[in-house]
Formats: sequence, C-alpha cells, structure tokens
Amino acid sequence: MKFVDEFRDGEVARALARTIATELQPGREYRIMEFCGGHTHAISRYGIAELLPAAIRFIHGPGCPVCVLPIGRIDNAIDLATRRGVILCTYGDTLRVPASKGMGQSTERAQHANPNDLHPPEGARGEATPMSLLKAKAQGADIRMVYSSADALKIARDNPQREVVFFAIGFETTTPPTAVAIQAAAREGLTNFSVFCNHVLTPAAIQNILDAPQVRRLGTVPLDAFIGPSHVSTIIGSQPYEFFAEEYQKPVVIAGFEPLDVLQATLMLVRQVNEGRCEVENEFSRAVTREGNRKAQKLVAEVFELRPSFEWRGLGEVPYGALRIHRRYQDFDAERRFGLEYHAVPDNKACECGAILRGVTTPKDCKAFGTVCTPQTPIGSCMVSNEGACAAYYSYGRYRDAAKPEERAA
Ligand code: SF4
Repeated sequence: MKFVDEFRDGEVARALARTIATELQPGREYRIMEFCGGHTHAISRYGIAELLPAAIRFIHGPGCPVCVLPIGRIDNAIDLATRRGVILCTYGDTLRVPASKGMGQSTERAQHANPNDLHPPEGARGEATPMSLLKAKAQGADIRMVYSSADALKIARDNPQREVVFFAIGFETTTPPTAVAIQAAAREGLTNFSVFCNHVLTPAAIQNILDAPQVRRLGTVPLDAFIGPSHVSTIIGSQPYEFFAEEYQKPVVIAGFEPLDVLQATLMLVRQVNEGRCEVENEFSRAVTREGNRKAQKLVAEVFELRPSFEWRGLGEVPYGALRIHRRYQDFDAERRFGLEYHAVPDNKACECGAILRGVTTPKDCKAFGTVCTPQTPIGSCMVSNEGACAAYYSYGRYRDAAKPEERAA
C-alpha cells in the first residue's frame, strides 16, 4: 500500500538503526520524548527501541486522548448518559475507561499484586470492576459507539424526540470534525444535538511538561528532544513548536507513525543533539507544512475558544490546555445545556498512569501491570486505548520484559 509498505521496510529499518548507532557519541544518553501515543504504539509494535542502542531512551509522553481524560470527565459523561431521554454517543475506547465509583477493591488487589505474575488466578482479577460507560450501558443507559461526530449527528436527526450528546475527545486532529458537526447542527436547526467538549491542545501540554519541576529542576526526567505528532501537525503546522526549540532549547522533529518515520526522526534528533542545534524539523513533509491547515484552524477558531484551565490526567490543571464551545454556539454546549459541574477525582492509588503520562515512570514499574490490570480489566486509562503506554507494553512488550536474559538474547 502506497505510503505504508515503503515505510515498513525491514532492511531499510536495520540500515537506519546502524546509521544511528554509528553516529552516537560515546558515553552520551539521548532521551527522546515521543509526545504522541501513536508513536508509543509504533515503537512497541515494531520493536524500535530494541533495534537501537541502549543509549537511545524513549520516554512516553501524554499524547493519548483517552489516557489524559481525567476520571471526573468520565463521571460527567456517565451522569449525562444516565439522564432521562439522553443518548450519549462516544468513541469505543472511552467506553472502558474506569470512572470514580467502585474503585476500592481493585485498588487493594493491585497493591498486593505480584508484578511478575502474568497469569494471576481468576479470583485476583477485579470482581469489583470500576464503573465505566460500558457498565452504565449494560445497566440500561442509551450509550452508542460512534466512529465520528457525523455519526452522532445522524443519530440526532433520526431521533428528534431524544437529546443526543456527542462525547468529544481528542487533540487538534479530531477538533475540526466536531466543529463541522456543530455548524451543521446550527444550520439545520437541530435542537436536540449537543457536544460534551473535551478537546485538548498539544503545545500547552508540551509546555506543561517542560515547566514541570521534574524536568526543570530535579532532573528526574531529563529530556533532550521531542518527536512531534504528525496528525496534529497537519492541522496546527510545525510553527507552534518553534517556541520550544527557541525558548527551551529542545530540538523537535515532527514524524509520521510508521517505523521508518520514527527511525528517521530519531536520526535527525541525534544529529541535532550532537551538533548542539535546537530546531524544528519536519520528517513528515508528505503532509505537514509550517502553516498547517488554515481552513481547519479558522473553523476551530469560529466554534471553540480556549478554556483558562482544564485538568489533564497526569499533568493536573493545564492553563489554556483545552477548548470549550464558543458562546456563539452555546446552544450546542452540553455542559451549559445540562448544567454539568466538574469535580476532580484522584486516580486509583495503585495506578501509575499519572506518572507514566509525565514521563516519570514506565508501565512495567506498576505493580498492577499485567496482573490485575490488563486490557480486559483496565484499572487506569493507559491500559484502555491502543495508544496508551500500558496497552502498548501489554500487547507487544510484556513477554519480552518477562523473558530470561538468555531468551532475550536469542
Ligand atoms: S498498568 Fe497502567 S493503567 Fe494499569 S494500573 Fe498500572 S499504570 Fe494504571
């Protein structure tokens, strides 16, 4: 397939890995944060970290929209879904993110879990599964899985007697389609359609990470460079990252999600670090420009406005880190229409998602990983989505990490 197969060529990947290895400076570590969950998935799926010398260290960032959604927002969605006459439309991944109720027993089990036990006895897996949209659906709430905002709009047209709410999540990539749906609803005079807006912004999160004490002062998360997300950058362009290169002296390379994209971006970052350059480079020039998609940016600016503050899982309150629906479209804002109030809820004590999303720790450091917390029984959001670091480790890395050294070498 064009633009896929040629970016998965094993021979080229091995050649790139050899080039990277020859260009590393002896005794130096290269700590590269891949912001986006799509890159985390690619690194795990294609064994990219194993292909490269240990001096290259990938640090997972918070760029998974399902992972960064705090528990309080899932509670809000369940509140909406259980109101009389409401149909809640949501992407599949958000269905399984644990909410706040029913967390106690799973927490206790996770704290006593054996991290090396990949096959815990049946009884060890949470009978007290936390509340989730999936559970609310099983209990009778009308929750429908959709693939797009357009699907939700169609459900609203087909059900004029019902209130249809679209649970909108995602970074800059998924925001324009939500804006299109809101404008279409306004044009058509659809009075039963609204959006629960949880769209978040990439540059604000990167700044939050760079300003975090662990990065700035304590040095517990030393960061040398960033791999920037490609799909987000098709919308916002490469320009917004220039601030991080100039002000924070961090090189950025925007990269696609195929293995050769990630390897090529790694090589470009190694060269920048070696040469002491801090620039924004664009590996994904097949789709990303410096300006981005002006039409989509204009659309988003018409329909949304910045939230002064928004809680992210792991990062806490991020100033101007998310969008809300602009007052001119307030009739389509589910938070206003249903008088939703947000209450922050602490994460499950056994779950390390927050620290993983800040790049402070990795999934295999979590006691619950692969024991009580699996994709079938997720305790935290990072085990739910394909783009979550825990799900990626579980799918592609858990047996490798558990293998004896001689098996790994083989
Ligand atoms: S494995 Fe990941 S999602 Fe599960 S409890 Fe640990 S940190 Fe949270």
